[in-house]
Amino acid sequence: MDPAAALETPVLDDHMHLDPVNGRGAGAAREFARVGGTHLLVLNKPSWSLGTDVEHPEDFREPFDLTVEVTREASEALDGRAWPVLGVHPALISRLLDRGFDVGEARELMQGGIDVAAEYVADGPALAIKSGRPHYDVDEDVWAASNAVTCHAFERAAEVGCAVQLHTESGEDFTEIVEWAEDRGLPREQVVKHFAGGRTEGPIPSVIARREELDAAVEAGRPFMMETDFIDDPDRPGAVLGPKTVPKRSLALQEDGHGEALRTAHVETPARVYGIDTEATLGG
Ligand SMILES: [Zn+2]
Repeated sequence: MDPAAALETPVLDDHMHLDPVNGRGAGAAREFARVGGTHLLVLNKPSWSLGTDVEHPEDFREPFDLTVEVTREASEALDGRAWPVLGVHPALISRLLDRGFDVGEARELMQGGIDVAAEYVADGPALAIKSGRPHYDVDEDVWAASNAVTCHAFERAAEVGCAVQLHTESGEDFTEIVEWAEDRGLPREQVVKHFAGGRTEGPIPSVIARREELDAAVEAGRPFMMETDFIDDPDRPGAVLGPKTVPKRSLALQEDGHGEALRTAHVETPARVYGIDTEATLGG
C-alpha cells in the first residue's frame, strides 16, 4: 500500500537540517513527502559547516538566509509546509575558543546570534529559536557561559513569543532548565528538548525517532514530538536518521493502534508549542 495514503494524520519532523550547499537540500524534503511526511521544521546547520567563520553577529545572517531559502523550497515539495528554526549551535563556543576568543567574547557573539535569530522570528519567516549547551564535557566557565546564552535565548523568545529548541547533554531530568525559562517569562510548554529520549522530564521532548524511544514516549502518555535530526551531510551518510524515518515509524505506530499518540505528536503538541496548525495547512 502507498504509505503516504495510509497515514491518517499529518506527519511533522520537528528537527531536520537541509544543506543547500553541500547536501541534498530540498531533495530530502521530497523524499520525506513521498512516504507521507507533510510538515518540517528546518534547522540551520552550524555556521562552520557552511564554511562561515563568524566574527560578528551579522555573520549569522548568511547561514540563516540559506536556511530560509531552502525551507521555502522544501515547503513547495510538501502537502503541508516547512518552517525555519534558527539559532546558534552550542558547540560553536569551543570553536570560538580555539580561534582565540575568550569565554566572555564567545558568549557575547553567540548571544548576538540569538538576537539576530529572534529578529527573523519577529519580522520574518522563522518559527522558533535554537540554543542550548554542549553535549560534551567543558570547563566550568564555558558551561556557565553556555547556560547564559541559553537563558538569553529564553529572554528573547519570551519577547517575540516563540519556542526554543534546546540542544543539550543527554539525560532525562531537565526540570532546572525549564525553571530558568519560566523565570524569564517563557512558558515551559515553549521549551523543547531536541534529540530527546521518550522519558524526558521538564521540556517537551522532541523524541529521536528510534523505535524504543518512541515506545517510551507513547507509554509516558505526555505531549511529545518526533524528529530525525537528519544532518544532510554527504560525508556522513547514515549519520543520525534518514528523512523517511518519521513517516515510516508513524505508520508503524498507526498500525499498532497508537493513533492517539500520533495526533499528540503531529497535531496537538505542535499546536501547543509553536502555535502551528498542521491540519489547516494541508493541501497547500
Ligand atoms: Zn540538529
